[in-house]
Amino acid sequence: MTYVCPHCHQPGIAAMAKRWSSRASPAVCGLCGKLSHVLASTSSGIGVAGLLIVVLSGIAAAAWDMAPLVLLGLGLAVANNFRAWRRATLWPISKESADNARKVGWFVAGLLALFGLGS
Ligand SMILES: [Zn+2]
Repeated sequence: MTYVCPHCHQPGIAAMAKRWSSRASPAVCGLCGKLSHVLASTSSGIGVAGLLIVVLSGIAAAAWDMAPLVLLGLGLAVANNFRAWRRATLWPISKESADNARKVGWFVAGLLALFGLGS
């Protein structure tokens, strides 16, 4: 399963590469070698939606005393996850921006460590 690269418009992005892509660690196109990623708001939104489905099915299962509803909710959450990731848009990103995002990531991690040690 591959996805269309936003640079060369050929199916050069592996499904797993898309699944784990971010600004700091973008997916690499197997055909043109350029970088692209799924927006952080999209990937976290997919996670939140899945969590919401599981929580709601858990509440429904408890309210109606129907444990299988939890399994149904889990199934729905997984199906939603796959569908949402398939539909998620890949955005092109340059190597420079990816490097910058990684530096900012390290900078934030360093700051957090500093504050963590200071307090
Ligand atoms: Zn490409």
